[in-house]
Amino acid sequence: MDRQFTISYLIGDSLYLNITNRCSNGCAFCIRKTEKGVGYDLWLKEEPTAEEVLAAVEEPQKYKEIVFCGYGEPLSQLEVLKKVAAALKQRGVQSIRVNTNGQANLYYGRNIVPELAGLVDTISISLNAQNAAAYVALCRPQKGEEAYYSLLDFTRKCVGVIPRVILSIVEWPGVDVEACRQIARDLGVEFRVRKPIS
Ligand code: SF4
Repeated sequence: MDRQFTISYLIGDSLYLNITNRCSNGCAFCIRKTEKGVGYDLWLKEEPTAEEVLAAVEEPQKYKEIVFCGYGEPLSQLEVLKKVAAALKQRGVQSIRVNTNGQANLYYGRNIVPELAGLVDTISISLNAQNAAAYVALCRPQKGEEAYYSLLDFTRKCVGVIPRVILSIVEWPGVDVEACRQIARDLGVEFRVRKPIS
């Protein structure tokens, strides 16, 4: 089916899957607001089905990593993500990553982390700020400060279930990098600082 939009896109050796444009945040630095984004038009006219996503992945074993990350929060499409990840695992994919805002448990009202076990190898959670007030100012979550506490709790729940857990921030005015690094350290997860996309 040719629906004229980009479901999969290549960055380096990794294949990225764009499965939704929905997100409960409105971050100041979101690539959806930049002129060129990541160089692909990632606006979806409709959300793809699992079958459509899988059809957009040819030879999945040839990529270093397959990453769920697009113009939106991939875990908003949880059932599609699980179905695609399970099929990719069956096709021999070693490394699957999800880039997330970490608010899925708040969004669904239950702990969805166990549902990702065995399907997701790396989860990269956007911490983005050193405290709830700074997070609200920068990411403008629909649920306010609760979103920040929820993402911290989500991170805790990922530890021991998902093999690799990363908290990430974007270099941005007002973001206290060292305080964020300490939060990651306290939670026992990796820490990554990203540059904003202009
Ligand atoms: S969480 Fe990600 S997709 Fe959502 S608004 Fe922020 S940067 Fe954009």
